[in-house]
Parts: sequence; structure tokens; C-alpha cells
Amino acid sequence: MGFLLKIALFGLALYGVYRTFRHWKGLFDRFTGSDLPQRPPPPPPAPVPPEAPPAPLRKPVVIEDTVQCAGCGAYIPTTAEKCGQCGRPRP
Ligand SMILES: [Zn+2]
Repeated sequence: MGFLLKIALFGLALYGVYRTFRHWKGLFDRFTGSDLPQRPPPPPPAPVPPEAPPAPLRKPVVIEDTVQCAGCGAYIPTTAEKCGQCGRPRP
């Protein structure tokens, strides 16, 4: 009889340990939120960046024909009447 009583008490103790474990595990899961798989809220949509001002138009590069001054060697445009450096008339 004593042996059966020991077994019964042992089983009761095991049951109590099991219930205690479940109780604390439930509390722990409630705190950590692992019992409810919650997906994180989606990030808010990225704010639309304000429209950048249009890039300033680059001035078209004007390629002028130049001739070298015979007097000073400076390059002067063919549209010039005379050299800007030495004043010599354009050849
Ligand atoms: Zn010149």
C-alpha cells in the first residue's frame, strides 16, 4: 500500500511540475508574443521626394574657326577683323 501511495504522490508531483511549467511557459509566451505569430507592421510608404529642379540646360558649345595670328601666334576667330593681342589685321 505504501508503495502505491509513493507512486501516486510521485505522479501528483510530476503533474504539479507539468502544470507549473505550462503556467509559466504560457506567461512567458504572452510576454514575448511568441504564441501569436505577429508579423511586423508594414513600413509606411516612402515619402515621394520633391521633384528635383530641372537641370540647367548647358549652353551649346559654339565651335569657332580660329586662325593663328601671324604676328603674335594667338588664335583669333575668323570673324574677327584683327588680332586682339597685337592688333595686326587678320590674314
Ligand atoms: Zn596677333
